Amino acid sequence: MTAPQGVAAWAEVDLTAIRSNTATLRNASGVDVMAVVKADAYGHGLIASARAAREGGATWLGTAFVSEALALRAAGDDGLLLAWLHPQGADLAGAVLATIDLSVSSVQLLGQVIDAAHAVDRVARVHLKADSGLSRGGASSSEWDDLVALAVRAQRSGAIDVVGLWSHVAYGDEPFHPAVDAQAVAFDRACSAAAAAGVGDVLRHFSSSGPALRRPDLAFDIVRPGLAVYGLSPGIHVGKSSDLGLRPAMTLRSTVAQVKAVDAGVGVSYSYRYTTARATRLALIPIGYADGIPRAATNQGPLLVGGQRTQVAGAVCMDQVVVDLGSQSSVTVGDEVVVFGNGLDGEPTAAEWAQASGTIVYEIVTRIGPRVARVYVEGAPR
Ligand SMILES: *Cc1c(COP(=O)(O)O)cnc(C)c1O
Repeated sequence: MTAPQGVAAWAEVDLTAIRSNTATLRNASGVDVMAVVKADAYGHGLIASARAAREGGATWLGTAFVSEALALRAAGDDGLLLAWLHPQGADLAGAVLATIDLSVSSVQLLGQVIDAAHAVDRVARVHLKADSGLSRGGASSSEWDDLVALAVRAQRSGAIDVVGLWSHVAYGDEPFHPAVDAQAVAFDRACSAAAAAGVGDVLRHFSSSGPALRRPDLAFDIVRPGLAVYGLSPGIHVGKSSDLGLRPAMTLRSTVAQVKAVDAGVGVSYSYRYTTARATRLALIPIGYADGIPRAATNQGPLLVGGQRTQVAGAVCMDQVVVDLGSQSSVTVGDEVVVFGNGLDGEPTAAEWAQASGTIVYEIVTRIGPRVARVYVEGAPR
């Protein structure tokens, strides 16, 4: 694997894996897939990843922000597309014009969407969001009936089309947690109330990656996975990627920038958080916390350096880390470094980095920084 010219570190993204994972999610859930591509497709690159998810069978794409959805439209995506988080000043009219479905969680926001529809003289496609127990976005049960009543009136007036009803789970990483079932019951109740109030036949969606993979009984009409599209598991209660039929799409790579012999008892990197126990060889890897390597991985983060498993020695710096290879190492400048990948060739996984850094795998991939080039490849189907 050769480095792109002049790049210190690069994230290789296997588009075949994204296609395959999308198909796996469709099979596991038994329903249509809305592939979530917010946050630059979890760091994998929005446009290429979204296209691969479509090719893998995603009938829907989901983003947090309208700006992300408009970027997909600008790149030529004209499929079903939902955006759900609308800060002050969000381009709701632009979304309506671009046929981007809008999630609506409050009476106030529905008023803004109706105004936007009037402004561009188009019908806004709306998904009403119920808070079934996450206590984050979504209309709480006390506001739900008012929201639904206004939506039914606006639909009759021709301003909006209610396309969907939806909610989001708190325990996406524990699909068998009783809270997931309690939320499904609350969501069902919200759907029944909407039907009784005159909302017609609409699409219902509820499940993020964990329940999409493990709770086909809660799939409703569409599942809404993000992390699993990229081949990663939300956590041990969902299962390992390989056991779930998922293929991690990202391999984070670099090359050795310098190797040097040092004595025993030498302090390494800022504040000497590591001291060599013996005469040894140290290698410099040009990737640091500005590129998404958590500083919390100081003395912990695992790497495969020239085929040798090792770990960060001393503090993670902004642009670089040091590893201790031992005195017998034959690693030289220019040798391949794999920070993480699918683990099949002895390299660490993103899950191992999450463990080593005291965080979740979501944060490992989404924080890969802008200096890291994204390189798209087609992997061999395994
Ligand atoms: C991010 C997000 C998802 C996807 O969650 P995963 O755990 O990555 O599958 C689904 N729905 C909403 C509302 C989200 O914010």
